[in-house]
Amino acid sequence: MLRYAPHAPRTVTTRHNAIGALRVRTSTPTRARPPDRSLTSIADAPSSGRPLGYLLGEERARSIARRASGPLTLDVTRAVVFLTQHCNMACAYCLSTAHAMPRWSTGALRDLLARLAAGGARHVQWTGGEATCHREFGELVGTAARLGMAQSVSTNGTAPPRVYRQLADAGLGRFFVSLDSLQPRRFDTLTGTHGKLGRVLTAIDALVRHPAAHVTVNVVLTPARVASLLARDGRPLRALLGWLVASGIDDFKLLPASTSPLALPAEFVATCSSLVPARFGMFHHRLATLREGGHGFGPERPRLCHFALDDRAFDSQAAWPCVIRLREGAAPLYRLDDPEPVQRAQLAEFVSSDRSCDPLCRRHCFDLYRELNERTDALLRGEPC
Ligand code: SF4
Ligand code: SF4
Repeated sequence: MLRYAPHAPRTVTTRHNAIGALRVRTSTPTRARPPDRSLTSIADAPSSGRPLGYLLGEERARSIARRASGPLTLDVTRAVVFLTQHCNMACAYCLSTAHAMPRWSTGALRDLLARLAAGGARHVQWTGGEATCHREFGELVGTAARLGMAQSVSTNGTAPPRVYRQLADAGLGRFFVSLDSLQPRRFDTLTGTHGKLGRVLTAIDALVRHPAAHVTVNVVLTPARVASLLARDGRPLRALLGWLVASGIDDFKLLPASTSPLALPAEFVATCSSLVPARFGMFHHRLATLREGGHGFGPERPRLCHFALDDRAFDSQAAWPCVIRLREGAAPLYRLDDPEPVQRAQLAEFVSSDRSCDPLCRRHCFDLYRELNERTDALLRGEPC
């Protein structure tokens, strides 16, 4: 079981959120943060001058380039673990809950963590489904922490605040919380639930006040959602951005749902650019990507993907070269019960194949993965990354 550190009572105030649609208990976002303990060890890139997270850190590109030019191994620096397909929400754009897999056994999860750590993995990203729905999640976080791995989780924010505090106390450093709307009825419609918005806002507030938690809010956009945010002269968009900026979170990002292509109108981009301070580095980085057309890449060839040399996604049966391919229903890279030579051969074949021929990579690859590949290519050519 997790051991919960007692928290001193905190002063909270009750205020209307930016759109006056819901009363939210929240603290004043003035916390003094200690250094982020979660990912600095794997290059959160203070030295690179790119405050955009470890995926774009120079050390990470160097690590991948080293792996690409050395003997091929199955070891990774980072792993995404697809913990469960179960979720207590039903978002229309969700692909994760359709990812069928047998339940993990606790033994298999512990084995995977031990194998990853023994191979030098330094970061686990927990995802699903809703990871907090997994009964042993707290224990697994404790296990990974004892193995010395930094951890992050994608969550819909519906677990009780004490659970998030316990997870942060146990060593989970980064929380990516989904929040698509601040309007209760719209939130219910988007998530296929009833009355859970208050819970999510309370969870975000609890995390913001935890000194060791780094909080990023993910806002998923569809064309219909963009139109609704721009309705009434853009008031809903301004209200959402205003709340996010004032909430005390560390960063936030807009993510296009992969189920429908997205083009952002100029007024949407202009409103975002003018209202969101530059300190939200990931937000501005992703906004620039969306402005240029969002996910995917063009047909220029060849386009190799080195990503799977250093980072892989795992479900209870198999490994994928990235979480995008797992979610989008691609065939796995290898099965976990394949003999190691087979796993290595399939990894070698994948990383030497031209991804521009693959419709799924062409359509869905993320900006961060593309940039990491480009920087790795530059290093492999002997250029500075
Ligand atoms: S909260 Fe996440 S996992 Fe759950 S239904 Fe929504 S998108 Fe899917
Ligand atoms: S989607 Fe992107 S990161 Fe994933 S395998 Fe394809 S090219 Fe690589």
